[in-house]
Amino acid sequence: MQEFQLIRQVQRETSVASSNSSDRGVILGIGDDAAVLEVPAGQHLVAATDTLNAGTHFPVDTSPYDIAYKCLAVNLSDLASMGAIPRWALLSLSLPRVDSKWVRSFTAGFNALAQTHGVTLVGGDTSSGPLSINLTALGFVEPGRQLERSGANPGDLIVVSGTIGGAAYVLELLQSGRAVSERHLLDRPQPRVKLGQALVGYASACIDISDGLLADLGHVLKASGCGARLELEKLPHPDTLEGLEDRLKWNYQLSGGDDYELLFTLPSHHKVQLAYWSQRLDIGLSIIGEIEEGDACRCLRSDGTAYHPRDTGFEHFRQKV
Ligand code: ADP
Ligand code: MG
Repeated sequence: MQEFQLIRQVQRETSVASSNSSDRGVILGIGDDAAVLEVPAGQHLVAATDTLNAGTHFPVDTSPYDIAYKCLAVNLSDLASMGAIPRWALLSLSLPRVDSKWVRSFTAGFNALAQTHGVTLVGGDTSSGPLSINLTALGFVEPGRQLERSGANPGDLIVVSGTIGGAAYVLELLQSGRAVSERHLLDRPQPRVKLGQALVGYASACIDISDGLLADLGHVLKASGCGARLELEKLPHPDTLEGLEDRLKWNYQLSGGDDYELLFTLPSHHKVQLAYWSQRLDIGLSIIGEIEEGDACRCLRSDGTAYHPRDTGFEHFRQKV
């Protein structure tokens, strides 16, 4: 299959996800040298990009459907953590030889999530090489209303959506050749787009958990100049972690990446919002600790004793010792 056939197939198959592209602000989409897009008056453009490399960001046997799904999901998760409304995507594909069946599965995975969140594919790039997918997601936020990492204050509640630790657990099972029934926890993260938008005007800081709870909370603490107290028994876990020994479970929850849940800080007088958001959006929201003065992050067991995690999260290029 050649480049232009492939681009045409991607264009044809993704256009079903967004039939009325002029309503979507697309002045010029796939087919020219660049896309021309209309940002609604009075909005700021929010842009995020992320690359998924085979073997690093997804197991090599991941289906094209799930690769596309995850690539869009992780980028929408970045927009969600800013409180943005997603609108467009650009897609760069580096592919070894592919056929139209591969592309059909890929566009189906893309469409599944694009339709849910109203995202239109407006361009990209295609080249041959090792399997690697880059996606750029574009969206909007009202001027000055974006959620940033830097606004947390002592006394704010630390809240996490959904459950954490599941993706890392599934990855480890796969890597050790064991049977996995919950593979969706790794392959199909749910970007918390509606939640991110709901948090605008309430949350003092927000980030999505891609590298692990401690690593990503660490970014918030550093940017905000604060410390934190985490209560380990309050960390929400998926059913698949039920029954694991505490230390093992905490390790997945504290240091395992790839869950793409939102972690946010909330001034305590907004606490009543949590039940409302949770019910309206059908998402679990767990208070897992509190922002403190200082710069340390303390992990406490239910009896109040400190726990010292052995690993803090995933980082590319980190030296093995
Ligand atoms: P150029 O050589 O001018 O960069 P290309 O031949 O790479 O143009 O691409 C032609 C058109 O197809 C452009 O509008 C580009 O955005 C789009 N395109 C190329 N690859 C993809 C892709 N993987 N997904 C979506 N659109 C793509
Ligand atoms: Mg090009």
